[in-house]
Amino acid sequence: MPLGNLIVAGAVLFSGSSASKFLTLCQHASIQMFSIGTYMNIQNLYLVPTIETVWQREQLHLLTAAREAGEPLRLGGDGRCCSPGHTAKYLSYTLMDLQTNKIVDTQLVQKNEVRNSYAMELEGLKRGLAFLEEEQVEVSHLVTDRHSQIKKYMREEQPEITHWFDCWHVAKGVFKKLEAVAKKKNCEIVGQWARSISNHTYWCAMSCEGNGELVLEKWCSILNHVCNIHEGHGSQFPRCEHGDLDDDRIWFRKGSKAYVELEKIVNGRLLLTDIRKLSPAEQTSGLEAFHKVLCHFAPKLVHYFHAQMEARLQLAVLQFNENSSRQQATTRQGDTMYRVSFPKSRKGEGVAKEVKVKQTFNYIDQLNEELVFRREVHSSFAEARRARAMEERERPVPISQSEPRARKCDIVAAHRSRFN
Ligand SMILES: [Zn+2]
Repeated sequence: MPLGNLIVAGAVLFSGSSASKFLTLCQHASIQMFSIGTYMNIQNLYLVPTIETVWQREQLHLLTAAREAGEPLRLGGDGRCCSPGHTAKYLSYTLMDLQTNKIVDTQLVQKNEVRNSYAMELEGLKRGLAFLEEEQVEVSHLVTDRHSQIKKYMREEQPEITHWFDCWHVAKGVFKKLEAVAKKKNCEIVGQWARSISNHTYWCAMSCEGNGELVLEKWCSILNHVCNIHEGHGSQFPRCEHGDLDDDRIWFRKGSKAYVELEKIVNGRLLLTDIRKLSPAEQTSGLEAFHKVLCHFAPKLVHYFHAQMEARLQLAVLQFNENSSRQQATTRQGDTMYRVSFPKSRKGEGVAKEVKVKQTFNYIDQLNEELVFRREVHSSFAEARRARAMEERERPVPISQSEPRARKCDIVAAHRSRFN
């Protein structure tokens, strides 16, 4: 095989591109290239195992470092479905070390491995924690969203791990509810307060050092504060900590319709239980950033078979881990750089973001080295196929094959009789 075939095929997958689009591009530009069949062989026999090896090596380093540091890990966990809506075939569950911002494990769950698609998230977490336990890596904290099965599992099966809820998820949930109420008649004022009230969740969590009862009192004090009452909130948090406020804000009137609607949200039964467990320090925003990287490697509207999906997930981790701790970029004059965007959800309000220094791709060198090595060891497709059959672990049956299928000739015959 020409070395170029191996390296170009590798570059297609390693960059997260689509092979069929790449080959169409070559055809349009009259560039001689291998066929899709050859690409698929190279992908399945060389690229996928190469990615697996390089990721496992990186993971080994991370886990060894964690064991040697002697401190139990503080993890963030989150699941991501492979497609929009509720039709997901896969869910990837990712565990991130929140102190180093590195992903230490990721698990791919296929829908037919569990009872229903809702159960995929818990399954992913269970597998991840079981793996870390097997590797003798201790975990002291886990920050997640408020997924109900995960809450129950952590409470009942993992009591030695402190379970916190991510502030962003809680704040977003509160904000959405407030926005919905603001659309009701005579409740416009709720909309004007929505952002400050949802931001209040962060302040409550971060100013209480994990004292759940204090978080709760601070949270509920918002019901006084919005009515211009800043004292008499409770025993642990008797009065607001802010100074004088400008007079031009609009206050709620106790007992008004808008106030009653707001009270329903702030005092929601589930929310009051969960608000005590808001994470005081680490949050899972790093995982949100990882899911954006994953969308590049595995776009939600494209279908992949299990092996390729897993390889793309591992590529995303390699790319993310190498670049997750980048510094903020500076101009030639030495000023720190920012970018301003106007997200649709903020309705014209600008948001500033730090610009980071350029990404690096050192992991690509490792992948290429391993790829060429693999080809040298297994120098024909037939040999590589035999080797793969020996080392490949069992994968779940593709969903399309878990149901009995009609024969093609019968389907075509039915189509013809209907449309002729
Ligand atoms: Zn106040």
